[in-house]
Amino acid sequence: MRVARFKSELTWPEARTVGFVPTMGAFHEGHLSLMRAAKADCGFVVASLFVNPTQFGPSEDFHRYPRDEERDFALAREAGVDVMFAPSVEEVYPRKTTVVHVSRVTERWEGAHRPGHFDGVATVVAKLFNMVRPHFAYFGLKDFQQCAVLRRMVEDLDIPVALKLLPTIREPDGLPMSSRNVYLDATSRLRAPMLYEALRNCARRIRAHPADGTIAATATHQAISGLEEAGFKVDYLSLVDAQSLDPLEVPAPDSRVIVAASIGGVRLIDNCPVFEGIA
Ligand code: AMP
Repeated sequence: MRVARFKSELTWPEARTVGFVPTMGAFHEGHLSLMRAAKADCGFVVASLFVNPTQFGPSEDFHRYPRDEERDFALAREAGVDVMFAPSVEEVYPRKTTVVHVSRVTERWEGAHRPGHFDGVATVVAKLFNMVRPHFAYFGLKDFQQCAVLRRMVEDLDIPVALKLLPTIREPDGLPMSSRNVYLDATSRLRAPMLYEALRNCARRIRAHPADGTIAATATHQAISGLEEAGFKVDYLSLVDAQSLDPLEVPAPDSRVIVAASIGGVRLIDNCPVFEGIA
């Protein structure tokens, strides 16, 4: 594996199919599953490790975000990455004059709770796509709204890349793997899997009465109350359309239940399908 610090170093044999995995590092099985999938599909795998300042709010964790390049490079090498692009902030943002803004699908949920977050994500991913020029790009469904935003961006801007959206990798107790899980103290870590249990329970109730126009509201309200009783601060928990992320009263075949909640001061997000589908 070669490490590239500058975009001018992003060169490789033209004939290869290029798979790209953008990340912010602190690798876990979620990241590695994307890299291995890229390796299985593509002749050449590029990953990026860039903690993108523009997607963090002013009171968020940009400065304390976990960073360990040497460990990450070793794990990526083992997962089959050919080139690791690990640029500086100055290399990515010599200026900040252009922003990619995806409308509609960014308005609710994470977009409402983290103002400017999706502008930062869309801008950096568009820039990285133009630097790497991949055929395929790999993202995790754990960040479900992010996947919907990027799908919209690629369609609306006619970016010539195929997105591969892959399942959430979880700890044995159901907690989705996340670089931010290290922030959980012991008590919060024990309670954190309740979030996925609440989601699955909610999805099961909606699935059992799919034509009942009141079930989504009842099931989501009860799930929120249960989580709040257990000490979570719930930002949202809702049944949504998989493409538009609009809230739904009755489920469609690809609907999801999405959630964001904090426990012990650590904010977690998760989602699950209502019917069978990629988790
Ligand atoms: P991040 O480093 O958090 O920006 O994540 C980089 C990529 O890994 C994104 O596409 C995430 O959706 C994906 N990812 C993060 N956690 C998981 C997980 N537990 N399972 C699958 N993919 C994940």
